[in-house]
Amino acid sequence: MAPILYLVVPCYNEEQVLPLTSRVLREKMESLITRSSISPDSRILLVDDGSRDSTWPILCSLRQESPLFAAMKLSHNRGHQNALLAGLMTARHYCDAAVSLDADLQDDIEAVDGFLEKFGEGCDVVYGVRRKRDTDTVFKRSTARWFYKLMNAMGAETVENHADYRLMSRRALESLSEYEESNLFLRGVVPLIGYRSDVVYYDRAERAAGTSKYPLGKMLSFALEGITSFSVRPLRIITVLGMIVALISVLGLLYALISKLVGSAVAGWTAIVSSIWFLGGLQMLCLGVCGEYIGKIYSEVKHRPRYTVEQLLLTANPLEKTEEEN
Ligand code: UDP
Ligand code: MG
Repeated sequence: MAPILYLVVPCYNEEQVLPLTSRVLREKMESLITRSSISPDSRILLVDDGSRDSTWPILCSLRQESPLFAAMKLSHNRGHQNALLAGLMTARHYCDAAVSLDADLQDDIEAVDGFLEKFGEGCDVVYGVRRKRDTDTVFKRSTARWFYKLMNAMGAETVENHADYRLMSRRALESLSEYEESNLFLRGVVPLIGYRSDVVYYDRAERAAGTSKYPLGKMLSFALEGITSFSVRPLRIITVLGMIVALISVLGLLYALISKLVGSAVAGWTAIVSSIWFLGGLQMLCLGVCGEYIGKIYSEVKHRPRYTVEQLLLTANPLEKTEEEN
């Protein structure tokens, strides 16, 4: 039987690109349904991440247009990762597999054919990997390269050049739902789920319309989130750094003592001032990193809900639970 496929699309102030995106996605889904690659119960779930423009009215009118569209509104802007999670966690009750993709058509929708093929072969997770990034700006490309390098150096395993364009089976989504951390970094969590996985290569296009919703500030906080949610390596680096500095200062002390004993001690103003600055800076850095983790503990123990669904417009019946889940 053809699987029920859900496309999950987070949308934040995307009024400019939505008319085009909805048309392209709808045509793709309809052609897949006609070819019996997917079930007619498949849906395009558009998640409005607390937009301030006319995104929500557009989603409502799309739903009026065709039952293929489902719309979900978050009560507040919670960021791409949480919006995506909200969509996926809803979709898992209705679908056999869900594909997450951006609203700006940068991810080539034709790669879904490849995703479905691998899913048919028994993969639970299929990653969309960008073949090359020459449509991105030089700035975006180089920052992204540094991002992956840093992530891997800091001990978070991610699939290189894979953004959040991926297929996940219902089983994988169920496992994802058990990850209850509130600092969610999907790209790091999904590889941890395990199961059989594969990659499908695609070319990334330019944003179809509108502007990027990921300015530098958001990108940096995303990278920081990724590293600190996934590894304690920064803490270890600090410990090692602390040991090295301590060792050097012991040597320095010995040197100072010896020079005092031999009577050639002229305490240099530069040395004092620079060491004050250096140590001060180092201590502040260490405090900052510790604070980062304490902040995380703080937000984790609060167990706040990661999103709130304000409204869900969807015509479909939830799937029966499988025996394993009962
Ligand atoms: N997005 C979101 N909430 C946000 C920021 C972005 O749901 O707070 C969505 C956005 O609508 C888009 C996707 O996340 O569908 C990726 O954003 P964008 O394409 O602007 O990022 P870029 O490709 O420039 O990194
Ligand atoms: Mg984009």
